[in-house]
Amino acid sequence: MQFDAIVIGAGAAGLAAARRLAADSLRVAVVEARERVGGRAFTVPTARVLTPAELGAEFIHGVGEQTHALLREDGTAAVDLDGEAWACAAGGSLEPEHDDFTSAAAIFERAESLPHDESVDEFLRRFEGDVSGRRWAWAARRFVEGFDAADPAIASARAIAHEWRSGVDARSARPIGGYARMFQRLKSVCETAGTSIRLSAIVRRIAWQRGAVTIETGGPGDVLYARTAVVTLPAGVLQAAEDHGGVVFDPPLPNSKREALSRIISGDVVKVALWFRTPFWESVDGGRYRDAAWFRCERAPFAVYWTQLPVRTELVMAWTGGPGATALRGAGPDELVERARDGFGAMLGATATARAEFEAGFTHDWGADPYARGAYSYLAVGGESARAALAQPLDETLFFAGEATSTNGQGGTVNGALETGERAAAEVVRCLKRRS
Ligand SMILES: Cc1cc2nc3c(=O)[nH]c(=O)nc-3n(C[C@H](O)[C@H](O)[C@H](O)COP(=O)(O)OP(=O)(O)OC[C@H]3O[C@@H](n4cnc5c(N)ncnc54)[C@H](O)[C@@H]3O)c2cc1C
Repeated sequence: MQFDAIVIGAGAAGLAAARRLAADSLRVAVVEARERVGGRAFTVPTARVLTPAELGAEFIHGVGEQTHALLREDGTAAVDLDGEAWACAAGGSLEPEHDDFTSAAAIFERAESLPHDESVDEFLRRFEGDVSGRRWAWAARRFVEGFDAADPAIASARAIAHEWRSGVDARSARPIGGYARMFQRLKSVCETAGTSIRLSAIVRRIAWQRGAVTIETGGPGDVLYARTAVVTLPAGVLQAAEDHGGVVFDPPLPNSKREALSRIISGDVVKVALWFRTPFWESVDGGRYRDAAWFRCERAPFAVYWTQLPVRTELVMAWTGGPGATALRGAGPDELVERARDGFGAMLGATATARAEFEAGFTHDWGADPYARGAYSYLAVGGESARAALAQPLDETLFFAGEATSTNGQGGTVNGALETGERAAAEVVRCLKRRS
């Protein structure tokens, strides 16, 4: 065998797995379809090195132990989010907002004791009919759509309850200089430890039997052999049919995995980075929004905008998730940038200024990206055990990692993905020790 382990995918899970495997002096290769590492963390390279735009992952949600540890190793750190929140009131004006995640999440505590799982929609309707519960139920719905990128009609109420209680919480921070730097360092740590990282290598076929894996990457002769493989492909990629560019497993994945995958949904997100010449919003309306970090306006195509506070820059991000993002499917990048820019201007009552101050916009279509096929995962009704089932190794030979396999409430996050990579690598090490 050429390798003890081949890691498929050089995102957070793949690089964390490779690093842990190489630390055990194993012969490791990482095979990555893109020409870069980082996967769904994708920092736009610009001259503004310290405040770059993130088209994928941007925040560290909750404790983020692994992520903070990596930043510390790199001699850098993260900055806690800070700043005011503003929301569109009924008449259209922007007013200070105090809704927060913790109060909205409290509603979901009751979902944990439901006798049967139900959709978020069904669950929240109980509260939405009631005047006292309505406000927090609406806030909870917004978080499910915006934060989990989930469709309330499909998403599991019990799974959301579990994930909000045990995983991410209201605390968030941003890595200084963006995620790209952390991933570049992880890559060089792996390479220094002897790991071969092959970029622009698209895995087409994974043939395996107990103790032996053959990975085919495109052209004839592009074949790698190993004793084990760690599969970190996103759920959307694992779900893709063979005739739609999906990866072929030979033998096919067993029913347990297919059943799990049928309950894991890849959510929709549209995120647009808007660079302006100046932070003009800080002086709109006599400086009312000078300390604004968040703007929310559900009626607009982009439900949320955020600045980079506490760092003052000229960058604003526009975001919509769940059904709002699905509704934007089919719009091209130029149209999305234009709608995001004009939506921001209109919300502030300063459309002409936003246009005049606009410098450049960037977006990435994660749904159409063949190596992501969606933004990040959430669970459908009845899918509470799906992440654990997807994480189960097959015959001590194929091991599974990636955000969709995170079982401690960190699904859909970088930190969750890092943790699953470390978990899968530890499983490989244990298994290879048993075999030898
Ligand atoms: C718009 C957006 C915003 C987000 N915001 C945040 C945030 O603020 N905070 C946060 O923590 N998380 C956020 N996330 C989620 C976070 O990015 C992911 O959970 C995390 O990066 C997933 O890591 P992973 O290793 O599981 O998967 P990936 O990063 O997707 O890694 C899998 C790798 O497999 C590769 N691959 C796919 N197909 C093949 C193939 N056939 N052959 C070889 N390689 C292949 C891919 O190119 C990719 O590099 C966001 C995601 C998106 C899309």
